Amino acid sequence: MIVVIDGPAGSGKSSTARAVAEHLGIQYLDSGALYRVATLIYLKAEKNKITFFELLKENKISFHFKDKKFHAFLNGTNVSEEIRTMEVSQSVSEVAAIPEVRSFVNDLMHKAVKQDVYVADGRDLGTAVFPNATLKFFMVADLRKRAERRLAELLRKGDEVTLEEVMDNIAQRDETDSNRSADPLKKADDAVEIDTSSLSFNEQVSIICDQIEPLITK
Ligand code: C5P
Repeated sequence: MIVVIDGPAGSGKSSTARAVAEHLGIQYLDSGALYRVATLIYLKAEKNKITFFELLKENKISFHFKDKKFHAFLNGTNVSEEIRTMEVSQSVSEVAAIPEVRSFVNDLMHKAVKQDVYVADGRDLGTAVFPNATLKFFMVADLRKRAERRLAELLRKGDEVTLEEVMDNIAQRDETDSNRSADPLKKADDAVEIDTSSLSFNEQVSIICDQIEPLITK
């Protein structure tokens, strides 16, 4: 069984999905993290597409949800911190717009969710990757609110960034993600929209948990 949460950057999807998974004892899949690992490979390839496609085939991407965190690995090395830098954030939407990268990441996800109960977050999960998901949510929030949340995360990690830089990056990514031809960011017709601008974190988590809980057969 899979439950998907889509929405624009910084709308609270990942932290909410993680808390939902933890609360219900189910698995969590962060599709954005997989696009970010692909972006690390792209940067290693110095943005040369031919080298990038070769490296994408040769390198091994793996992941798991453990100790309340989604861990992503590149050739066995944990790159979960490295994929959150502004350098990766600045290139990720360009990489995610490449159709070959999308099918590569989609394959990884489909293989992972064959067994077990999953909550996954992304941009196109309800529309393109898992159109038959058991439940679909679409999270939205004001741009400023989203940027403030991302900024707090980045500052905690010691990144020297300003609110304006984060707002620009988020707005730019939303624009690229919504307008690309391959599986753009879009609310599925059957998704439940949740505006998190004025919700507390616990409220966001409860709204989703309350809908999943009755569907889980222990
Ligand atoms: O979720 P996160 O902000 O880490 O995602 C990083 C980027 O990965 C997004 O801006 C988007 O370009 C891409 N992405 C995507 N489809 C998904 C998940 C993420 O295109 N399902």
